[in-house]
Amino acid sequence: MATQDDNLFRNIISHSKEYGFIFPSSEIYDGLSAVYDYGQNGAELKNNIKEYWWKFMTMLHDNIVGIDAAIFMHPTTWKASGHVDAFNDPLIDNKDSKKRYRADVLIEEAIAKLEDKVEKEVEKASKKFGDAFNRKQFEDTNPRVLEYRRKIDDANARLKAAMGSSDMAALKQLIIDLEITDPISGTRNWTDVRQFNLMFSTEIGSLAEEANKIYLRPETAQGIFVNFLNVQKTGRMKVPFGIAQIGKAFRNEIVARQFIFRMREFEQMEMQFFVQPGSEMEWYEHWKERRMRWHKVLGLGDNNYRFFDHLNLAHYANAACDIQFNFPIGFKELEGIHSRTDFDLRNHEKYSGKKLQYFDTERNTSYIPYVIETSIGLDRMFLSVLSGSYAEEKLEDGSERVVLRIPPALAPNKVAILPLLRKDGLPEKARKIMDDLKYDLRCFYEEKDAIGKRYRRQDAIGTPYCITVDHQTLEDDTVTIRDRDSMKQERVSIPEVKAKLTEACSINAVLRKI
Ligand code: ATP
Repeated sequence: MATQDDNLFRNIISHSKEYGFIFPSSEIYDGLSAVYDYGQNGAELKNNIKEYWWKFMTMLHDNIVGIDAAIFMHPTTWKASGHVDAFNDPLIDNKDSKKRYRADVLIEEAIAKLEDKVEKEVEKASKKFGDAFNRKQFEDTNPRVLEYRRKIDDANARLKAAMGSSDMAALKQLIIDLEITDPISGTRNWTDVRQFNLMFSTEIGSLAEEANKIYLRPETAQGIFVNFLNVQKTGRMKVPFGIAQIGKAFRNEIVARQFIFRMREFEQMEMQFFVQPGSEMEWYEHWKERRMRWHKVLGLGDNNYRFFDHLNLAHYANAACDIQFNFPIGFKELEGIHSRTDFDLRNHEKYSGKKLQYFDTERNTSYIPYVIETSIGLDRMFLSVLSGSYAEEKLEDGSERVVLRIPPALAPNKVAILPLLRKDGLPEKARKIMDDLKYDLRCFYEEKDAIGKRYRRQDAIGTPYCITVDHQTLEDDTVTIRDRDSMKQERVSIPEVKAKLTEACSINAVLRKI
């Protein structure tokens, strides 16, 4: 049975298609799995998110600069980074439903279910004992909780060991022991677990030449690492410093059934921050705090964000966490913050034979810097904004509306300019107002249909303000400004409109709050 949140997710997906945010790729050919196109409103929202991130990184931090590296890279890059040998997901099929899953995700979900059971026991007991309830004592002594905990610890340890040693048989055994059933067929009729490399490959050069296999980059970070010395030297950067980049990445994801949450072609916004070895934990905490703040000042609700520490660290990391967002599909990773040690630079040194070290003039010594990475999916950020701002509302007069309460700074259009009637010189006056505003604010002009209908359409695409031009406008040079969220209207004199709306919709104003 579909849950309320499943319905919500479905509604958001159809809303984003109906209103020109996201279309399935090549839809006239029935689409391409896990590939999407951004429509006229989606492209604007996406660009605004990019601007918010890019300005935060490169303008608010004078020790961070931005680059734009190519998608194609020398194939040895991916040997050095470990992607050729280890960028694999363990996949498993259910023989009855014919559906394919990531074995590690199935196991993590089963562990999460056990965690839920612990929570339920705790809730039950806390209701029963009231004020006298001591959670720790209960968890330390209740036999049912202890048994769940034992199972959780055992499963986590086995998962970590199996993933660490790429032991596919051990993963399969864990799926059997946890009695995991397929959510669709309900059976435990599983195939063996196999490794699957997520990189897309293609060939570079003409057919006459020797075919050369290259990859579509699975992350943007390596474009930063290979340019580390170029940027450091030409920009005269001093450690600590950062390099930021926004760009496409490609992964042949096994499970791609979650709209733009998991795509095969997506965009990342990554920043690698190079620090002196030994200081990385301090910087790790610093970036955790900065990135969380960047999210929260948007105003989508502080409770929608949380940190999730990684227990199973990648071999190159000495600390890692996710910022999770409360998507309609649950709390899931939105951004990763990783302390990557000197793993990448050291390996590129080894594979390229070129020195990738920083000469510290104050200490008169060279070293390979350590790296703190902040990595966020632009499309996931888009989904968090869309789902965090989507609301179906019942109004006082009994009617209903769907409104996207997108933070004004990110909204595709900032203001709709609407003459009340298509006559009496109102359209001409409205056009004049727009001609003045359009250099500072993205405007949308519309004169068709009753004004109420036009307001609803703007609500549905998240336009924060509607300016209505009526007969009074012609008399006293004032217009009404309607606020999307409160639906309240106020009369403002035309010369004041620009300054008022520009500030209310400004990305810079949000950045100043960080
Ligand atoms: P997941 O565990 O969800 O597969 P990951 O840990 O592999 O993600 P990273 O390699 O850390 O992800 O990538 C950094 C960010 O890029 C993620 O936080 C996410 O926002 C985004 N991202 C990763 N894979 C995808 C994808 N297939 N589609 C959209 N965004 C993605």
